[in-house]
Parts: sequence; structure tokens; C-alpha cells
Amino acid sequence: MFDVAIIGGGIAGCAVAYKLSMYELNICVIEKENDVALGATRANSAIIHAGFDPEPGTLMARLNVEGTRQAPELCKRLGVHGLAGSCIRRGGYRNRKKALRQGREKRRPRSSRSRRQTGAGA
Ligand SMILES: Cc1cc2nc3c(=O)[nH]c(=O)nc-3n(C[C@H](O)[C@H](O)[C@H](O)COP(=O)(O)OP(=O)(O)OC[C@H]3O[C@@H](n4cnc5c(N)ncnc54)[C@H](O)[C@@H]3O)c2cc1C
Repeated sequence: MFDVAIIGGGIAGCAVAYKLSMYELNICVIEKENDVALGATRANSAIIHAGFDPEPGTLMARLNVEGTRQAPELCKRLGVHGLAGSCIRRGGYRNRKKALRQGREKRRPRSSRSRRQTGAGA
């Protein structure tokens, strides 16, 4: 008999199972594929989003910052190496116009004009 059944063994389900494993509970993760992390989690670019991209004050912005803070310790505990963070590159308006012309950058609201994330991300 289980106390908790988690449906889906992606990063969300596994993270919930990991947290709950710290309590005296019988937990099962039910995954429809033959292994964990075969859904969206498999396609992940492994970037730890730092929180500069989402609208300030939103839940996503807050969780990005909190997740970035927790990531090094969690990776150490789980034996995960090679954290991929994200960084901000400052670019001038002229560079952005050029990037837009060449189709390298999507249009964004004016407030985030000079901010962009480097590397492939979600
Ligand atoms: C191309 C790409 C790149 C990305 N890059 C990043 C990145 O760099 N950084 C980042 O933070 N995020 C990134 N993301 C987003 C991130 O990968 C997802 O938000 C995250 O993996 C979602 O995890 P999840 O556990 O919610 O879903 P999933 O990983 O999809 O897990 C859901 C699981 O549930 C299972 N399931 C579904 N239905 C059932 C059922 N009825 N019974 C049993 N099991 C079931 C599925 O098989 C799957 O294993 C990226 C996403 C994509 C697509």
C-alpha cells in the first residue's frame, strides 16, 4: 500500500518523489514509458534559468532564482556534474537591429530589448 502515487516520471514527478522521500512515506512513481525522463525532460537543454528573463515578480521569476540558488547543492548531493547556467549579454541597439534583420533574434517587449540569453534554452 502506498501513501503517495505520483503519475509521470519526468523532472517534476521525480523531484516530488525525491522531496517526499525525506519523509516516512511509501511512494511510487508511475511512468507509462519504460524509463524515467523520456518526455519533455529528455529534450531539455540543461540550462538552469537564472530568472532574468521572466516578468519580474512572477512565480516563474521567483522560482528561477530559488532554483538557481538550490541547484549547486542538489547537484552535489545527486552526483550531477557540469551545471549549465545562463548569463546576460549586453548588446547595443544597432546590434539588435542587425540581429533582427538577419532573423537571429525574435522581437521582444521594449523593456527586455538589451537582454538576451546565450546558448540554447527553452
Ligand atoms: C527542447 C526543450 C528544451 C528545454 N530546455 C530547458 C532548459 O534548458 N532548462 C529548463 O529549465 N527547461 C527546459 N525545458 C523545459 C523542461 O524540459 C520541461 O519544463 C520539463 O522537462 C517538464 O517536466 P515534466 O516532468 O513536467 O514533464 P515530462 O518530462 O514530459 O514528464 C511527464 C512524464 O509523464 C509521463 N506520463 C504522461 N502521461 C502519463 C500517464 N497517463 N501515466 C503515466 N505516465 C505518464 C510521460 O511519459 C513523462 O515521462 C525544455 C523543453 C524542451 C522541449
